[in-house]
Amino acid sequence: MQSVTTFPKQIEISPVLQSRYTQSAAHPKEFGEYISDHMFVCDYRNGAWQEPLIVPYGDMSLSPCALALHYGQSVFEGMKAFRLSEDSATIFRIEKHYERFKRSLERMCMPVPGAELFKTALIELIRLDRKWIPDTAGASLYIRPLIFASEGKFGVKVSSEYRFVILTGPVPALFSKPIRVKVETEFHRATPGGTGFAKCAGNYGGAFYPTQLARQQGFDQVIWTSAGDNPCVEESGMMNLLFIINNTLVTAPKSDTILDGITRDSLLTLARDKGWKVEEREITLRELEEACRTQQLQEAFGAGTAAIVAPIGIINIYGVDYPLPEVTPASRMFALRDALNDIRLGKTEDRFGWNTLV
Ligand SMILES: *Cc1c(COP(=O)(O)O)cnc(C)c1O
Repeated sequence: MQSVTTFPKQIEISPVLQSRYTQSAAHPKEFGEYISDHMFVCDYRNGAWQEPLIVPYGDMSLSPCALALHYGQSVFEGMKAFRLSEDSATIFRIEKHYERFKRSLERMCMPVPGAELFKTALIELIRLDRKWIPDTAGASLYIRPLIFASEGKFGVKVSSEYRFVILTGPVPALFSKPIRVKVETEFHRATPGGTGFAKCAGNYGGAFYPTQLARQQGFDQVIWTSAGDNPCVEESGMMNLLFIINNTLVTAPKSDTILDGITRDSLLTLARDKGWKVEEREITLRELEEACRTQQLQEAFGAGTAAIVAPIGIINIYGVDYPLPEVTPASRMFALRDALNDIRLGKTEDRFGWNTLV
């Protein structure tokens, strides 16, 4: 399958007749409450990406036989843009998101749009809907690139047609208070050789049931573990999982069962830059339990684009609640979060080249 296409031509832009923007969109209260006026759309057919368009956001028609709905060829990304001033904004780590999108698409036998198409589409779309980027502290514009198999066929096969869509919407700062998490050892999110490293739709559908059970038991999230006799802790919900154990920042190494988070990568880069001790290595559940019991576990948090840092207050292991030391503004995880935010908001120099100015 031909995969990489260079950017062919200008993106054709259709204006909205009436903006759906209201002042309340500047202060979003929930994730996904608002969707901006425009979306990017580009179809893949006859082995090539067709004309790229930016059109008013709205429903689209789709065959009920669309292969994505039946066999799950659907891959997404999640990224953010931030307001710098009235007429400037930044998009965070476009290249890194593109690389991951590519890896996910390849794993699902899907065509990869060219890097230039991806980048130009994002920049044009965010420029056009700039007013939707909230300026409330901590809030941002969430960006959702998505590619799904659109060919309508019954047969189990690799689709020959796809639709690439990019949607955006203002989102608030998430998760301020510490969460309760349950270590899940019965259900697994990912297995070696599987698709855990890819942001493909099925991974998330499969995670709902164990997460719902954990919610019914009073937890906010699960901690996923590897299958086998000596489980290792992997991720928490849709976030990577980081610990401070004995003054060392520890997280699971990248593998095919771990989603290669861009927040994780950014926080590790900043921690190393600050001279912290950092270890990317396997963490067995036994080690975590021991670290909880002996109070060597000082901090634990999830890391992801939506929340940046989600502090963990209680970890439940085999039915036992282990409360962590109190989360305070002086907790070290917030020093990392603030350093990341300062770069994204242009308050400190972008030394790692993470921002794209639009
Ligand atoms: C998206 C995602 C993450 C976090 O990745 P970021 O790039 O930091 O947003 C972590 N785990 C899973 C399972 C994810 O889908």
